[in-house]
Amino acid sequence: MLFGCPFDGTCSFRPGARFGPPAIRAVSDVLETYCPVLCRDLGDVIFADLGDLILPPGDTAMALDMTFRMAEWVNRNGQIPAALGGEHLLTLPLVRAAFAANPDMALVQFDAHYDLRNNYLGVENSHATVMRRISEFLEPSRILHVGQRSGTREEFEQARLLANSRPATTKGNEIAEWVGQRPLYVTVDLDVLDPSVFPGTGTPEPGGVQFEMLQSWLVGLSNCRWIGWDVVELSPQYDSSQISSVVSAKIVRTMILASTNRNPDITDKSI
Ligand code: MN
Ligand code: MN
Repeated sequence: MLFGCPFDGTCSFRPGARFGPPAIRAVSDVLETYCPVLCRDLGDVIFADLGDLILPPGDTAMALDMTFRMAEWVNRNGQIPAALGGEHLLTLPLVRAAFAANPDMALVQFDAHYDLRNNYLGVENSHATVMRRISEFLEPSRILHVGQRSGTREEFEQARLLANSRPATTKGNEIAEWVGQRPLYVTVDLDVLDPSVFPGTGTPEPGGVQFEMLQSWLVGLSNCRWIGWDVVELSPQYDSSQISSVVSAKIVRTMILASTNRNPDITDKSI
C-alpha cells in the first residue's frame, strides 16, 4: 500500500520534499503501466494509493509517530508499506515498523550520503542521522549502503570498518546476493542519482549514477522478498522541467513491480 509522507522539517540545505508525493502522482500519467525491463505491468498487481498523511510541520516527533503507526497498520493487514517522501528521516519510523514485524530483516540504502552522523547541528533526529538511528536497533551488519560519495571522514571509516558499503559500480545481483533470503526493506534517497538526471532535490551531490544504474539495482533485487520500501528526497520545485518528478515516478513504478514479484507472503501480489 502506497502512502505519501509530506514532511521536510529537518532539511538542512533547501526544503521542499514535502511537495514530493503530489508531484509524483501528477506526472505519473506520462508513463506507461508496462515495464519492459521487468516484463511486468502495473495491471498485473493489486496496489492501493492511500493518499498523503497529514503531518504537522514543525513537530518532528509527531510526524515520525504518525508515519510509524501508518506503516504498522499496513503491516498488520499483511501488505507491503510503500512510502513516498518527504525527507529521509521518515525512513526511521518506516524501518522501525518493518523491524518490529520482521526482526531478521535486511536493509539496503541507495543514497549519495551515508546519513550516519550521530547528530547534525546538535539535532539527533535528522535526515543526516537517519541511518545512525536505525543502526541503534538494526545491527549495522544488516544494513548495506550503496552509491555513497559524500560524508564525513568518520562516516566513511565506519562504513569501511563494517565492510557493508558498495560503490556505485556494484551490480544488482551482487546486492541481491548480500540480501539472500532475508526479508528486504529498500530505501531510495533519490540524490543517489547524478544532479544532471535528478536536479530536484534538497542536497544535490555531483558524481552520481545514471537512471539506468538505479533501475538495474532495483530490478536485480526483484527476486528478493520485499517487506517495505520508500522513495525520498524529491523536491519538485527545484526542477521546473518536472523531469525529476518523472524520474521519481518511474522509480516508484519499478519498485511496485519489483517488490511484488516474489513475496510468498503476499498471495495476491498486492502491496
Ligand atoms: Mn542523500
Ligand atoms: Mn539520505
